[in-house]
Amino acid sequence: MKKKADLHIHTTGKKGKELEDFLMQALEKADKEGLEAVSMFDRNDVSMYLPGGELRKIAKSGKIEKIASKTKVVPGTEMSSTITDAPHYNKYTSHIGLYGFDAEKISDEDMLNSIAKDKNRQQDAENLWRMLVNFGLRDLPMLDYEKDLAEQIFNYIERKAGTRTDKLSEFLFRSYPSKSLLSRSFLENPNSPIFYARTERPTVKKVLEVGKENGSLRTIMHPAHMNDEFKTKTYIDAIMGISTKYGKSQIDAIEAEYFKNTAEETREIEKYAEKHNLKTTGGSDSDPRFGYNKRKDGKSFEMDEKTIKDLPDIRDLI
Ligand SMILES: [Zn+2]
Repeated sequence: MKKKADLHIHTTGKKGKELEDFLMQALEKADKEGLEAVSMFDRNDVSMYLPGGELRKIAKSGKIEKIASKTKVVPGTEMSSTITDAPHYNKYTSHIGLYGFDAEKISDEDMLNSIAKDKNRQQDAENLWRMLVNFGLRDLPMLDYEKDLAEQIFNYIERKAGTRTDKLSEFLFRSYPSKSLLSRSFLENPNSPIFYARTERPTVKKVLEVGKENGSLRTIMHPAHMNDEFKTKTYIDAIMGISTKYGKSQIDAIEAEYFKNTAEETREIEKYAEKHNLKTTGGSDSDPRFGYNKRKDGKSFEMDEKTIKDLPDIRDLI
């Protein structure tokens, strides 16, 4: 039996009061839509689930019962990880969802530091700032890693160029945004590729280990829209290959319903999951910068009732 749920709502770059407001908004929306479960998170960051963290504070205050009493609020995170175990896929990133973890129970100090204390985000902000300064945005103020990075850059460009450059968002965080910057006279050499060195992410293997230790539902996120060069099955096989190399498969689930998926893509993933005895999840990949995403047919995302039942609620963990 399928139930409405959205286990993929990003909070990108929001912190403190701003994040609390966004979380409340997301809960209100979940209640209005009658969602059985939601999961809100930032990439590579579990700080809102730690003591003193924003979502934890909301859960403790009893506000979840008031706003969305029928909705389960599942702790989650989406980890960008590198597939270094499979040389062929070396340069590729994988997104692994961890659902139902207890953030306090991550014993690996390095991992906790990198995902809970904003180290990666701070480093990313610095790298991106340095790259843009080198490429001619000389008086760009140092980026505040606690705020939306793209927004700060857009504001700067808007001030300089006098126009809003929303389209830049499509290019800025890709490997070759140079065309876009060139057309706005921020670059002189059309052949300058812009790579900004993102902080190194943990390996898929590491993320799966931490997820296991933590009792998380380890989920392959949006496999049909992860890598343009590989078909869904090839990509899942690569991750599954890594995980099975260390014994029993370390993957528990695959994100089957996804806002970019066609019905065929969802069906293909569901079939794969059935064959390999994996659970399936569903999520919108919504992001406060771009708004809420819907399923292609306009309906709410769905997933198995039993899978939802097995996941903990943030209120059980505090
Ligand atoms: Zn993702």
